[in-house]
Amino acid sequence: MAKGFVVIDVDRCKGCGLCTHVCPANILALSQDTFNIKGYHPVVVTDAEKCIGCASCARICPDVVFTVYRQKRQTQRAAVQAVAVGAPAA
Ligand code: SF4
Ligand code: SF4
Repeated sequence: MAKGFVVIDVDRCKGCGLCTHVCPANILALSQDTFNIKGYHPVVVTDAEKCIGCASCARICPDVVFTVYRQKRQTQRAAVQAVAVGAPAA
């Protein structure tokens, strides 16, 4: 299984919760005790170790909050490389 991680642009989040329903690892939740600059409870990652880098969160988010990275094994050198698989448009 692939390993991934997400970077969250907290202040873009409007707390709609869409991403929390599509994460197959069930590791996204709305913060219960913090607010972002817009006054919403932003999304947080509850267990970063379980992210598989599927980018479902990035695809469904209407506010381009997520940048997703996935670690890709290179067979020749057995190195691990992080590649962006879901990122905001410029
Ligand atoms: S990349 Fe996939 S597993 Fe990781 S937080 Fe987003 S939806 Fe969940
Ligand atoms: S889908 Fe986007 S805007 Fe909605 S809660 Fe998730 S990160 Fe925030």
